Amino acid sequence: MREPIYFVSLGPGDPELITLQALRLLERCDRIYTPVPLAPSGRRSSKASEIMLSLGIRPEQLQSYDLPMSKQRDGAQAAYRMVADEIIRLSREGSTERIAVVAEGDSGFYSSSAYIGDHLLEAGLQIRQLAGVPAFIASNALVGGQLVQLEEQLRVIPGEASAEEWAEAWQGKHTIVVMKGSLCQEEILRAMALYPERQWHYLEFVGQEGEYCSSDVAEISQRKFPYFSIIISKARRG
Ligand code: SAH
Repeated sequence: MREPIYFVSLGPGDPELITLQALRLLERCDRIYTPVPLAPSGRRSSKASEIMLSLGIRPEQLQSYDLPMSKQRDGAQAAYRMVADEIIRLSREGSTERIAVVAEGDSGFYSSSAYIGDHLLEAGLQIRQLAGVPAFIASNALVGGQLVQLEEQLRVIPGEASAEEWAEAWQGKHTIVVMKGSLCQEEILRAMALYPERQWHYLEFVGQEGEYCSSDVAEISQRKFPYFSIIISKARRG
């Protein structure tokens, strides 16, 4: 039977935050599907390939694919479908290549590589997923201290939620992680003003060029939140 298709997590950006398991596997892969995000402005740059090349993965191992980044997800869906169809074709042709699909952060946490995985599973292929450090864990390490402790709970909001969900989240005594900051800057500014008793931490491009971290509400309010930003809000303890 064919080896599984590996879904490999690269960590949030700092090459040192990849796991040994992921790196050792990538070193032995023949074909590593690597997204190259394509901004509406036409800008192309691939954090994933930078991470891998800096760790000694060879350019010829990488199979780059363009990933259109826009709010309409049709372009991205088509790109994932193409990658999945190619992998399915290779497997049906009896290819023995060792194949990986990489994702930033953890490949099982809000990862768009899930679309590729769904198509592969539908076609009856086997997948093995390798764990990685998600950006919110790396973010909390930068802030320092416990993300949650004792009886506290953690809620993760991926940028968009209903008014009731936001209000409920801020009123609780639990920790809230908000991803995709560019989708909810207004809500965060509002909540920081309404709930000054909470601790507010804001992070951009963690472990990458342009890394920025602030716990000062006035300073955070001046930023323009990019897509690669995370907000961590902890209730006051004790
Ligand atoms: N699989 C990823 C999450 C992908 S969703 C993970 O495990 O972390 C994309 C969101 O993740 C971004 O909108 C941003 O909120 C967050 N993110 C990913 N990498 C980041 C980084 N280096 N710095 C800050 N936020 C990051």
